[in-house]
Amino acid sequence: MPKTIYLDNAATTKLKPEVLDAMMPYLTERYGNPSSIHSFGAECNAACEDARKKIAALINAKDNEIYFTSGGSESDNWAIKSVAYMKKSKGKHIITSAVEHHAVMETCEFLARDGYEVTFVGVDDKGIIKMDELRAAIRPDTILISVIYANNEIGTIQPIKEIGEIARSKGILFHTDAVQAFGHIPIDVEKENIDLMSASSHKIHGPKGVGMLYMKNTVKLTPMIHGGPHERKRRAGTLNVPGIVGFGKAAELSQRAMKEGIVEMTEMRNYLIDRILKEIPHSRLNGDRERRLPGNANISFRYIEGESMLMLVDMKGIAASTGSACASGSLDPSHVLLAIGLPHEIAHGSIRMTLSEFTTKEELDYTVEALKEVVARLRSMSPLYEDAVKKKEV
Ligand SMILES: *Cc1c(COP(=O)(O)O)cnc(C)c1O
Repeated sequence: MPKTIYLDNAATTKLKPEVLDAMMPYLTERYGNPSSIHSFGAECNAACEDARKKIAALINAKDNEIYFTSGGSESDNWAIKSVAYMKKSKGKHIITSAVEHHAVMETCEFLARDGYEVTFVGVDDKGIIKMDELRAAIRPDTILISVIYANNEIGTIQPIKEIGEIARSKGILFHTDAVQAFGHIPIDVEKENIDLMSASSHKIHGPKGVGMLYMKNTVKLTPMIHGGPHERKRRAGTLNVPGIVGFGKAAELSQRAMKEGIVEMTEMRNYLIDRILKEIPHSRLNGDRERRLPGNANISFRYIEGESMLMLVDMKGIAASTGSACASGSLDPSHVLLAIGLPHEIAHGSIRMTLSEFTTKEELDYTVEALKEVVARLRSMSPLYEDAVKKKEV
């Protein structure tokens, strides 16, 4: 058996060897500042522009619509805070969803403490945004709609094109956090009416600490980081050359991997989901079965605690994640699982397994067997389960 099985690719991914190879020269002998005129600078500038092209090509954007940042969190903050700042004379109302990543949710809540009004539109039991509620939330003072492209916990893919259409018809800017979708499923910013979009390198087998904000040419956000004239005067700071080169390489590779990879990964994911649902009683799939990221499986097991499950499977060499307490250190289960209507006790018994192109069928088989053992063991110790047995619920 392999020593470790990594099923936490929504948290971060392994750097591909080809990406490291592409980065190496820029960590060693090519150390120029891309803003410098001399040849040291020029070769680094050219490498960054090449990366920009590859990233733009992946989403049908123009090169000069890509702005490099330090990652998905910065891109989300920049998009939302700059729109809020620039449009405050028009209005102070922002619409977002109940299933956003913390980088969007906390930014909106920060603005709400500063006099903005935020509407968190609800989702159905699969995690898909309620379009009627979204339409009804729009007001004359609405300045921004920000909806996650594909959810990081349950993998649900939102109707981005339709949301973009609504926003555009009302003259409202539309931002999407596409960190989980970019490089994993096809995106077309033109066809999908996207004005602003966040992406991150380390979720697509690139290095950490680098990402981008797509900004449509007709939208010119004020900088959030002031200083030099980098990134067409919109994001100051010497470019992270090795990071950007790695991000570009990862984007290029994901374009190739996506072509053949989506079908294969979806099959593997369905195999994992189907085996678990069939072989482990009282388990349920969270999120939509079809409108789902190819690599995401999020499953709740009744009568047990997600964190205990994680620790036990970790001892068997499997790395997964839970929608339970650990991330925040609080006792509240994930806001996403609550938003799809799961009661607390079921949300607490959830685990997320996210695949990559390196995941093998053998690893999934091993994982299912490990889960069966761990779930049975935890249930045998669970007073909740004992109680359910007594009441003949199980
Ligand atoms: C990982 C993630 C982020 C944060 O990206 P970083 O590059 O780690 O800052 C934002 N949104 C979503 C949906 C993510 O999955």
